[in-house]
Amino acid sequence: MTETASEGGRLISASSLYDYISCPHRPWMDAFADPNDRDTVSPFLDLLWRRQRAHEQDALKGKEVVDLSNVSSIADRTSATLQAVCSDAPLIYGGILCAGDLSAEPDVLRFDGTGYVPGDIKAGAGEEGDGEDAKPKKRYAVPLALSVDVLERIGRSNNKRNAFVWDVNDDEIVYDLVAAKGKRTPESFWDDYQSALSDVREIYAGVRNPGPGYQGECKHCVWYSSCQKRLREMDDLTLLPQLGRSKRDVLIEHVNNVEKFANSDPSKLIDEKGKSLVKGIGPESLVRFHDRAVLKHTNGTPYLRSPLSLPTSDVELFFDIETDPGRNLCYLHGFVERRGSEERYLGFFTTDPTAEAEREAFKDAIEYVRSHDSFVMYIYSKYERTWWRALQERYPDVCSREYIDEIFSEARTVDLLQVVQSQTEWPTQDHTIKTLARYLGFSWRDAHPSGAASIEWFDRYIGGDASAKPQILEYNEDDCRAALVLLDGIRQLRTRD
Ligand code: SF4
Repeated sequence: MTETASEGGRLISASSLYDYISCPHRPWMDAFADPNDRDTVSPFLDLLWRRQRAHEQDALKGKEVVDLSNVSSIADRTSATLQAVCSDAPLIYGGILCAGDLSAEPDVLRFDGTGYVPGDIKAGAGEEGDGEDAKPKKRYAVPLALSVDVLERIGRSNNKRNAFVWDVNDDEIVYDLVAAKGKRTPESFWDDYQSALSDVREIYAGVRNPGPGYQGECKHCVWYSSCQKRLREMDDLTLLPQLGRSKRDVLIEHVNNVEKFANSDPSKLIDEKGKSLVKGIGPESLVRFHDRAVLKHTNGTPYLRSPLSLPTSDVELFFDIETDPGRNLCYLHGFVERRGSEERYLGFFTTDPTAEAEREAFKDAIEYVRSHDSFVMYIYSKYERTWWRALQERYPDVCSREYIDEIFSEARTVDLLQVVQSQTEWPTQDHTIKTLARYLGFSWRDAHPSGAASIEWFDRYIGGDASAKPQILEYNEDDCRAALVLLDGIRQLRTRD
C-alpha cells in the first residue's frame, strides 16, 4: 500500500484510529455514509468535549509551551508545527504533523534531548483496571503510535518507548509502544497500530467494510439510528444478547443471520467428541445462543432456564447510584423501598461536587440501610458494590469494609443482571435494564433516559440550574422502579419445558 492521501483523499488521523479501535465500522460510516443520517450529538458528548478542553488548559498551566491550538488554518498549523519541531521547542501544544497519508495531532510534543515524544491529555483515567492490574489502554496507545510514526518519518522521533498520557489526576502514564502487552501476549501496541493502520487504509480505499455490529458503544454513537436500521434489515447475529462482533464474525461462517441460526440444528455445529466447530464459542454457549436466536426470531415468551429461588423479605430495597466518572464522584444514592403494597423513593443527593458533600450523602445512605433489621436489596450489575467499596475506602469513618461486604453478601443483595444472564432468556437484543423493563411495559418519564444524560444534568445543576435536580431524582427513581418491575417480571417467568 502506498503512502498517499490520494486514494479516497482521506488522511488517517488519530481520531480515525481511535474510532476504529472502538468500532471498526465507524471509520467507514464517517467516510461513506450520508452525513444527513447522523444523529444529533448528545449534550453529554458536548459536555465531554468541553471538559476535555478545560482539562487541557489546566494541565498546561505554568508550563512554557508553544501554543498552536488557535492557528485556524490546518496548513498554517502544520507548517508552524514543523517549524517548532525543527527548532527544538521544548513543548508544543495543539500541533499537527503530516507524512504521506498520516496526520498526527498529539495534544503535546515534548523535546527529550534528541527528538520528540508525543503525549495526549485525557480528562479521564490514563489506564484501565485498578492497582497492580492497571494497564495502558489500546485506544490511547494506537493514536500515540500514529504520532510516533509521523515523527519517525520526518526524522524527529526520540523513540517508541516514551509516549505518554497526562491523565485526570495529573499523573504521567508512560506508554511503551513496543513492549509485549503481557506475559502471554507477545504482541505490542505497535503491532496493534500496524494492523489498525492497514485496516483503516483499506476501509478508506473502499475495498473493505467491516459492517455494523451491535455493541455497548452504539448508544453514544452518532450513527446509532442508521446502524440499528441496517442491523435489523440484516437480522444480524449481534442482535442476540452477549453475542458481540468477534463471535458474530466466526459464527457467520456457518449461519449468517438470526433467522437462519434459529432454523438450524445447533448439534450440527458440535462434533462427535462434543467439541464446538465454531472457534471461540464453546458447545454450551452455542446451544444457548441458538436458544436466544429461536426466542428472538419467534418473538417468544421469556422463560427461566431452570427453577429460580430468590431470597424473600418484608422489606425490599431497589438500589441505584448516579456517578460522574469524570469527576470521580458519586452524586446520588437512590432507593425504592417496598413493604408489601407500599412503596416509597428516597434519594441521598450531593448538593455540590465536593468530598464533604459526597461523604455526607454516602453516610446518610449507609444510615438508611442500617436502619433496617432485615431487607433484601436488588441491584443491576456490580457497579453499586464497586462504588460503595471505593467510597468506604475514601471515607473509612462512615463504615467498615466488613459492613459493605455484609450488605452485598448473597443473603442480602441480589444482582438481577447476574440472574438475567445466567438463568433467564428474553426475546430482546440486549440485557440492559432499559430494554428489559421496557419489554415488561415500564416507561421512564424522561424521553431519552440514560446515565450519560444524568451526568449532564448534574453538571447543569452545579452550574446553577436548580431545575436539573428534580430531573436527576426522577430519572434515578425510575431506574430503581425499573429494577422492581424486572424482579416482578422474573418472578412471573415459567421454567422452559
Ligand atoms: S452505531 Fe455502533 S456499529 Fe454503528 S458505527 Fe457506531 S459504534 Fe459502530
